[in-house]
Amino acid sequence: MQAFRRWEFSLTKSNDQTADLWQQAFNSAVAYRENVPEMPILPLYDAAEAHARFGGELDEESQSSEAVLAHILGQAEGGILQFTSPRFFGFVIGASHPVGVAADWMVSAWGNPTAYAEMSPATVAMENAVCTWAADLMGLPKNCGAGIVTGATIANTVGIMAARNALLSQYGWDVEADGLFGAPEVHVVVGEQAHSAVFAGLRYVGFGANRVTKVATDDQARILPDAMERALENLSGPILVILQAGSINSGDSDPFADLIPMAKKRKAWVHVDGAFGLWLNAAPDTKHMLDGVEQADSWAVDLHKWLNAPYDSALVYTKDRAPLVSAMSATGAYLPEEGTFPNPSDSVMELSRRARGVPSYAILKTLGKNGVAEMVSRHCRLARLLGDKLRAEAGITILNEIASNQVAICCGEGTLGDPQTAQVLKMVQDRGKVFPTHGSWKGRTTIRASIIGHETQDEDIDLLANELIEAWRAVRKS
Ligand SMILES: *Cc1c(COP(=O)(O)O)cnc(C)c1O
Repeated sequence: MQAFRRWEFSLTKSNDQTADLWQQAFNSAVAYRENVPEMPILPLYDAAEAHARFGGELDEESQSSEAVLAHILGQAEGGILQFTSPRFFGFVIGASHPVGVAADWMVSAWGNPTAYAEMSPATVAMENAVCTWAADLMGLPKNCGAGIVTGATIANTVGIMAARNALLSQYGWDVEADGLFGAPEVHVVVGEQAHSAVFAGLRYVGFGANRVTKVATDDQARILPDAMERALENLSGPILVILQAGSINSGDSDPFADLIPMAKKRKAWVHVDGAFGLWLNAAPDTKHMLDGVEQADSWAVDLHKWLNAPYDSALVYTKDRAPLVSAMSATGAYLPEEGTFPNPSDSVMELSRRARGVPSYAILKTLGKNGVAEMVSRHCRLARLLGDKLRAEAGITILNEIASNQVAICCGEGTLGDPQTAQVLKMVQDRGKVFPTHGSWKGRTTIRASIIGHETQDEDIDLLANELIEAWRAVRKS
């Protein structure tokens, strides 16, 4: 494995211990990020080694902050996976945009629990701007209810909680006061290719992961309208329909313009898991893929995926603010009082919370509408480019139509195919130059490449394609 520079930090000694401490962390952060493109993507030591380094008994005695920071920096070196590399293509993972990181430092330095507008005016105002700007980029209705949460899993959960409130109140049941025992049964309809996070959300809210009607999808993970029609036909009472913008396998989305009116005829609440896919609306050349998505009732979307915000942040939106606030607020406030502003704590599960929307404020303001559009559009173009390069190699198959930024890759055929695909992936990951990850789709083991890092460019895709092709040729020969 190639050598890389250490995370050197130079100590500029001043008379201010806090300044010295922060300077050290800052220098180390700069050195780390400068090194990332040259570093092997995998960590140099494993989880067991990491626990040996950081575990053990807590010391009896106090020690200096400087010593502790030096310990963290020294011991973590080599134990970090390069998620921020422009050649990291695993899962669906953003790459912590530098201006977001800078703003995130200030969030920690300010230490403002961002619950109430009056108490933390600047951070709340920035978060409220993020809610408005992102809704606009995603083509969602004006004046949505909005909450900034930790990730799409929680955003989906909160959206389902708002749905639970609204659906049951239509049937005269106050779920916030009386709970679920004895409540009218809520029917849940989801696509059979829904993300596991949706089922986690259903569990968290007491709907159960298995008590759902699963609707068949086509070969690109899109719900079949006929199947949805049939599923809805048999249901009466409150209905929650959960759709998807951006499948992790195909990158494609459900046909909202067909499905949502169908669900609305049944007075269903429609929730959309758009963890990364909702951002497709921000680019003129991809927005058509989400036609009709604005007709839903609630949406979940990550800020730490396609916007490349540092972990952790995501948005939940509801067309009607009232059920979101009824479900989340400790005080039951609906609308801000005259002359006041929405309080973040009314729309999320947390009371005291980090101002986790502030980094996204910085990123959105830096990129502007055009910058976000350019990034989304570039990633989709690069995904198609990768597909073209790989399809040209005998024995490599692309399982998806590459509707957006995801590429599902298989090597070989028949019973040999899956183990060969796994071997190619391992070889490529071990070489450490590029980093796609494992998937499983349509009964096949796949290599999934997500093109989503803000720095990823054509040359990174060239390298990814070459690494995969070389590994495949070696595996095929052996
Ligand atoms: C990533 C993802 C999730 C989960 O998001 P987290 O931010 O990791 O909680 C849910 N749904 C889809 C479609 C995703 O891609």
